[in-house]
Formats: sequence, C-alpha cells, structure tokens
Amino acid sequence: MMRTIDSITDWQTLRKSPIFENKSVGFVPTMGALHEGHGSLLRRSRQAHDISVLSIFVNPTQFNDPNDLLHYPRDLKRDLDIAKACGTDFVFLPKAEEIYLDKFRFNIIETELANRLCGTHRPGHFIGVLSVVMKLFNLIRPHKSYFGEKDYQQYLLVKGMVDAFFMNLEIVCCPTIRAEDGLALSSRNALLSAEERQKSRLFPYHLRSANKLEQIRQELENVGFSVDYLEEFEGRRLGAVRIGKVRLIDNVKI
Ligand code: AMP
Repeated sequence: MMRTIDSITDWQTLRKSPIFENKSVGFVPTMGALHEGHGSLLRRSRQAHDISVLSIFVNPTQFNDPNDLLHYPRDLKRDLDIAKACGTDFVFLPKAEEIYLDKFRFNIIETELANRLCGTHRPGHFIGVLSVVMKLFNLIRPHKSYFGEKDYQQYLLVKGMVDAFFMNLEIVCCPTIRAEDGLALSSRNALLSAEERQKSRLFPYHLRSANKLEQIRQELENVGFSVDYLEEFEGRRLGAVRIGKVRLIDNVKI
C-alpha cells in the first residue's frame, strides 16, 4: 500500500519508526506533473531499495519568474496513479510554509557553476534548488537519490553539494527519457501549443548536429526559438531556448 504524508512532523515520526529499521531507502525528489522521465527514476529507486520515497513539492524559491510558478502544471491525482504504478511506498507532499519555517533566511549558495548556463538566465534558481534538496535530504534521509541527466547542471550542483558537505548519501544520475521525436520529456511540455510542440523537436535535433554553436543558434532562431544559451561544458553541449511562453532545456554528450 502506497502512503501519502503531507506533514513534516508526521514524516519525521514515520522515519524514526521500526518500518525503516535496517532498510535501504531510495528517494526521487520532483515537482510533480509526473511523466515517463520521473517514472524511470522511480522504477530505479524501487528496484534498488527496500523502501522507495517520492516527494512532490513545487518549490517556490527556485522560480525566478512568478508567472512560471503560477502556471506550473499540477495534477496530483494522476501523479499518485503514476507513483503507485512505479511501486512507490511513500509520497511526501510537504507544504511550503513548513519547508520554509525559517522564511528562507538560511540557504545554500554555490558560487561558480550556479552562476553559469541556466544560472545566468535564472538568477537565484540554484540557491532555491540546493536549499530545498538539502532540506529534503535531511528529512527523507535516503541512502541514494535519483536525478535526471536532463537537468545536468542541477545534477552537478547537487552532487557537488553532497560531496562538499560530506553528506551521507549517493547521487545517481539517470539517462534522459525522450518522446519519439527526440524532445526530452518535461512537465512544462504540457504548456506547449500543438504548433509549439511540433516545432520543439528541432531543439534536440539541432543540439545533436555536427554544426558549430553559432550555426545551431542561427538555425534555432530562424524557426522562431529565442536562445537563452548554447554552450559546451565538460564534454557536453547544453542549451536553453524559449518557444512562446515555455522554456526548454536539454543537453547531449559530445
Ligand atoms: P522536476 O519534477 O522537473 O523537478 O524533475 C524531477 C527529477 O526528474 C529531476 O531529477 C529531473 O532531472 C528528472 N527528470 C525530468 N525530466 C526527465 C527526463 N526527461 N528524463 C529523465 N529524468 C528527468
């Protein structure tokens, strides 16, 4: 039986209970609107651990754009069906007031990578991400936590934080799950119009091409994308583009 817990004190009581004694715990943090990308992480966690925990929390502190937060897709009923189908044991649904009892006075700042790539275009974004991930790790106390390669910069920063603070868990990076036409699955894809969705396949298509970055930027702009950045970093090519009101990110190994 899958259980949902929406109070932090209830979770803490449960986490100390005999249910967790000598059990290995896998954890998948998400913002909900689950898709097959999240599903792949949940199944990995299920397979590798006695207890598999999912969190769904649309973290306000990582949204630099209030409109993005307002329109972020939410569908809890469907999320719970997917979580159940992936064999999840516990779904943690904390409230922002409880997560940020300190009113975000305390936060985690990385001073180099967090200011590059997505960080340049989303000021403060990774402060919100790292802070909430630290809080969730301290609450869930997992042995391993599963992250998607799709958000590669996020993975690097979370892994870096865990190493820097000698945190006692392992971060596992899982491959990007894509739609048939190559577009990386993302909760925000649900916000694309039919025409925008059709066009979006060109983003991964050009990202993978043998062309130089400047040419790729031109190709993308020619078909109506606005390019936040395209960069090569540590053997990968990473990019973020905007189409209509939606921002897409992706990265490929070079
Ligand atoms: P989000 O709900 O967008 O915060 O994502 C939660 C986790 O799912 C993060 O570790 C993401 O990297 C991962 N994720 C999102 N989309 C995909 C995808 N298409 N393939 C693999 N993992 C993904």
